[in-house]
Amino acid sequence: MIFTPGQVITRRYRRGDRCTWAQPMRVLADDDRGLLLWHPVGSDVARLVDADGRTQHDVTIDRMREPRLTVQTWTEYDILVLMPPAAAHSVWWFFRDGDFAGWYVNLETPCTRRPDGVDTSDQLLDIVVSPERRWEWKDTDEFEARIGHPLYLDRATAAAVRREGERLVELIEAGAYPFDGTHIDFRPDPAWPLLRLPAPPA
Ligand code: MG
Repeated sequence: MIFTPGQVITRRYRRGDRCTWAQPMRVLADDDRGLLLWHPVGSDVARLVDADGRTQHDVTIDRMREPRLTVQTWTEYDILVLMPPAAAHSVWWFFRDGDFAGWYVNLETPCTRRPDGVDTSDQLLDIVVSPERRWEWKDTDEFEARIGHPLYLDRATAAAVRREGERLVELIEAGAYPFDGTHIDFRPDPAWPLLRLPAPPA
């Protein structure tokens, strides 16, 4: 299934039989480099939040009380997201008020395509990269704590996620694609609207 530039699709994270995150995104390209998506500040994002206001950062999903996908407003950074074909990661470009503000590597399972979007499972570990290509791991404690949990990842998968991250770190340090300046001067068309989730966002 190939998406069409201009189409709005939903990027979802799944955990077990639940959707834990849903983000409407504008398709900019879908070609041999991957699926390139745009999500501006002010658009919808839905996160799983429980009756006590806790998210998956606070507790594992099985310990959330009456979790519900809750639509919120995306803040701080406009993002371009590249999901390379069959990759176990996505690369995000952050923009603040139009200026490039760094990258983010989200480690995730290779996506499944649906007619209205893409599904992946977030693998918890991330890499934050400054515009000068200084980088650091993010959420290592959460990642380590969930190894062995049946709804998250086993030891072998965790090792593969770390290896994938280390592979990306080599590209970051080398200034190699996609960390070679590609897209850092990206400017959205001012006519593009903010993005809303179809209801219900599941
Ligand atoms: Mg992540």
